[in-house]
Amino acid sequence: MSSRATSEPAGRNAEPEVHPWLILVRYGEIALKGGNRAFFEKTLARNIKSACASISDLRIEIRRGRILVWPKRRPERVARRLQDVMGIHNVSLAQGISHDPEEIASAGLAAVHDALEELPKEGATFRVKTKRGYKGFPMTSTELDRFVADRILPQIGGGLKVQMKGADLVLGIEVREKSAFVYTKRLPGPGGLPVGTLGHVLCLLSGGIDSPVAAWMAMKRGCRVSFVSFHSAPYLGESSKKKVADLVRVLANYQPTNQLYIVPFAESQEAIRDHAPEPYRTVLYRRMMQRIATRIAKRAGCGALVTGESLGQVASQTLENMSCIEDASGLPVLRPLVAMDKQEAIDLARRIGTFDTSIKPEPDCCTVFQPSKPIIHGKIEDCEAAEACFDVDGLAEEAVKGTERKKIGALDT
Ligand code: ATP
Ligand code: MG
Repeated sequence: MSSRATSEPAGRNAEPEVHPWLILVRYGEIALKGGNRAFFEKTLARNIKSACASISDLRIEIRRGRILVWPKRRPERVARRLQDVMGIHNVSLAQGISHDPEEIASAGLAAVHDALEELPKEGATFRVKTKRGYKGFPMTSTELDRFVADRILPQIGGGLKVQMKGADLVLGIEVREKSAFVYTKRLPGPGGLPVGTLGHVLCLLSGGIDSPVAAWMAMKRGCRVSFVSFHSAPYLGESSKKKVADLVRVLANYQPTNQLYIVPFAESQEAIRDHAPEPYRTVLYRRMMQRIATRIAKRAGCGALVTGESLGQVASQTLENMSCIEDASGLPVLRPLVAMDKQEAIDLARRIGTFDTSIKPEPDCCTVFQPSKPIIHGKIEDCEAAEACFDVDGLAEEAVKGTERKKIGALDT
């Protein structure tokens, strides 16, 4: 988009109340939600507003399968920000104009000129595609397509070739009841469902690559995600807490509110070291995490736990060990990465922006008193026998009492 979309008017007083540029927000799956549709749309509109709060005031209208967003300023920045809002399939930065076909054509021509700055002009293919939501408009969609194309093509030097299917450049026109919109780009959003429409979950967040991706995937399916992280002070330093807070700050770009619970875990680990067979330490750490996380989740009103476990990735993630671990949870355990390859998780971590933080070297609490030969095929009876030797519930309750709670905001957008 050229400077036309972003240029601020000369004087402050000249700034329009609502910018003539608007963003057409298209959503996919919400449309399937039948009776709940209004709830999904209102939640999405609220999330849009809060995602853009630091960029611009917005006027938002929900209209027949679309959300229309008029930013007061910085429309281009708002459009890019919306690419991270769950539930959005894609967005177009569009110009709002009158129903006058000549005006539609000249706005279309300007938009095409802008778009051609990013396309090789020679041999580029082009089409106009009108959607006529307002049936009172005096031309059919095809007539308006032709009318606009006939005015644009002679003005573009170097020759654009008209092609109906798979054109490089599509000038979109939407004729709505009160006005028409023109645009040339569809910027992809994450898809999925708006955060907050499918309940609240608690993600067990380590400083690794996988659990932040798992949290993002839960958000994408409409869950609001809070975070719990286990720390081994004094065996490990404060910097591992900072790393986890940094990860939450990145993930905060995708949902409106973010709680991080930081749990002191060293006493539980010491009890496990002192009373349980060494090969079982990691599995027992994980069972303890599930117990503590369940208590925190229930108090915070979360309906499930989320982990970054992936079948077969490490010794603690065999089917047997995952069963032992889940057995200690009092809530359903969601594992969005369960069938993913590590490389797929890495690719997604890069895309969502958590990768660079995740790979900063920082030991996880599970490395404290790490067994030299961890059990691969653990048994629940053996876990229970080991846990009978120390005060599991007392330790879990103490850990909850010592938990720090932090509210974390997004990186400045
Ligand atoms: P990650 O990259 O998320 O650390 P991983 O492949 O390294 O995952 P593990 O370290 O075995 O796998 O951890 C499995 C899951 O257990 C993590 O994805 C996370 O959900 C949870 N977990 C592990 N360590 C912690 C911790 N210190 N605090 C909170 N959750 C943890
Ligand atoms: Mg890990």
